[in-house]
Amino acid sequence: MPGQTNDQQDHNGESLTEVDAVVIGAGIGGLRMLHQLREQGLTVQVFEAAPDLGGTWFWNRYPGARTDSESWTYAYSFSKELQDEWDWSERFPTQDEVYRYLSHVADRFDLRRDIAFDTRVESAVYDEDSARWLVTVAGGRRYRCAYLVTALGLLSLPYKPDFKGLEDFEGQWHVTGRWPQEEVDFTGKRVAIIGTGATAVQAVPLIAQTAAQLTVFQRTPNYVLPARNYTLTDFEREGIRSSYDEIWRKARKHPFGYAFDRAGVTKSDVTPEEHQRILERGWETGGFRFVFETFDDMTLDEEANEIASEFVRNKIRAIVKDPETAELLCPKDYPIVSKRPPLGHFYYEAFNRDNVRLVDISQTPIDEITANGIRVGEDEYTADIIIFATGFDAGTGSYNYIDIRGRGGETLEKKWADGPRTHLGITIDGFPNMFMVSGPQSPFGNIPVVVEGTVEWIGNAVTHLRENGLDTIEPTSEAVASWWQLLQDYINATLLPKGRHSWFLGANIPGKPRGVLFFFGGVGTYRKTCQAAADSGYADFTLDSVAPHGQASTAHVGRTTSRPAPQSVS
Ligand code: NAP
Repeated sequence: MPGQTNDQQDHNGESLTEVDAVVIGAGIGGLRMLHQLREQGLTVQVFEAAPDLGGTWFWNRYPGARTDSESWTYAYSFSKELQDEWDWSERFPTQDEVYRYLSHVADRFDLRRDIAFDTRVESAVYDEDSARWLVTVAGGRRYRCAYLVTALGLLSLPYKPDFKGLEDFEGQWHVTGRWPQEEVDFTGKRVAIIGTGATAVQAVPLIAQTAAQLTVFQRTPNYVLPARNYTLTDFEREGIRSSYDEIWRKARKHPFGYAFDRAGVTKSDVTPEEHQRILERGWETGGFRFVFETFDDMTLDEEANEIASEFVRNKIRAIVKDPETAELLCPKDYPIVSKRPPLGHFYYEAFNRDNVRLVDISQTPIDEITANGIRVGEDEYTADIIIFATGFDAGTGSYNYIDIRGRGGETLEKKWADGPRTHLGITIDGFPNMFMVSGPQSPFGNIPVVVEGTVEWIGNAVTHLRENGLDTIEPTSEAVASWWQLLQDYINATLLPKGRHSWFLGANIPGKPRGVLFFFGGVGTYRKTCQAAADSGYADFTLDSVAPHGQASTAHVGRTTSRPAPQSVS
């Protein structure tokens, strides 16, 4: 019954808890989904493997961790009161501040009571007769629900390369995406960090402040843009508060979910001098505004891109005093933004310190971890602490750790053996009533903005089912195939496929199927497409009702033309 949790025993006498919905994950997506479904009168059980909420913001507490989105858009927009009462302290808030924000949201909306922490979901199996998901968590406790929502995060399963010899290392080692809750003291220590992605770029300048020596192992240099963080004043906060309507209007339309304006300028509109001046202004403004508020063709046009790429290289050469180190830090063989650019907080400046050295492993890879450090070819680099800032198995990674089975017992792992297949990045054919928040093939962009659009769409789909006496929703295989094609078309219209080892192409994980993992058609376009899918009466979906005798009767099979929502089921 809606609104009530129901504990029962099955025919074997084992306990089974009935809820309307199970949500997996208590990060930004899971918390928002819980609130949405609860507001709609559903009983919801959330499972979270970590001992506390936050998802990314629980696990990634490495030194320097903070958002690369401006605080005023890295937030929920569903509650004006929440918006009005929360004060961000900086342009780019720290991990701790985002974690406190999410905790505040959880307390304010009394979310914790429906979250089971330290609870890993082991399997979710769809039962066709009852149109219910059976969810089993570690320890064997079972739950049955009509709706299964995975809010696993797009970058939540850390990737640590399997270097030979780690077990012999006599120092400490840590993975940034599973950073310990206790403080790691670098004072006087020799620290080695492997990786130079967005994570390492944040950690390096801070670790360098206390470590005796910091050795940075770089395989591929990045185009690091200056963040230009600052503390917000009361005056600025008031300005933000009074502009929220405008902020969300812009963010929902923006390709990556940011409250940025379009540049309105392309390379051919300006002289070379003006071009440099505009890039300079973007560089000084900081953050992703360098990309989005300078030239609209930076990610589309090779020449415009190369001007921006060379501009950044020249900045690196100007900042880093040792010319050899500067050249090694300059990306040369791929265009800017074809990999997600990190934001730096004095990253390049850190290489001017006497205690920081860069080791180029682009030609000679790491051979092994030794008892004393890291061996590259003939050279051994001693270390007391090794940090793996080596990224994530993005998009699909965390799905491989739950045994998810849809119709006919088909496993999701098998279904996605060649890469994910979804409709809208939310639903999967053969997996009725399973919804993904920030799943593979959903947009890559500012997460809270992406999440809220998806959560509202899922909430509306559930309402549609319930108001029409329907039990299940599932995309047609044609819709899934079309979505896949659309993703290819969008990414192929950009320079993004040229990125080296890009995680959004699955190219950072050895053996992972290569292919675009996210929707790059833009957050605004995505929102419109999702809205159209609902407005068409879910024409690209099959909506079913389960008859009392347990047999499914098809109420509506997906159509390609617009039609009103079905009103009743025969
Ligand atoms: P990443 O961008 O995938 O970087 C991983 C780094 O590890 C790369 O430098 C990679 O080199 C290196 N690496 C991987 N395997 C290696 C190996 N076998 N030997 C040597 N080096 C190896 O991961 P990340 O830095 O964690 O960032 C991932 C994403 O998380 C970001 O792009 C961003 O979207 C998100 N993130 C966001 C924030 C924020 O918003 N504040 C902060 C951190 C991360 P190659 O490049 O050669 O593969």
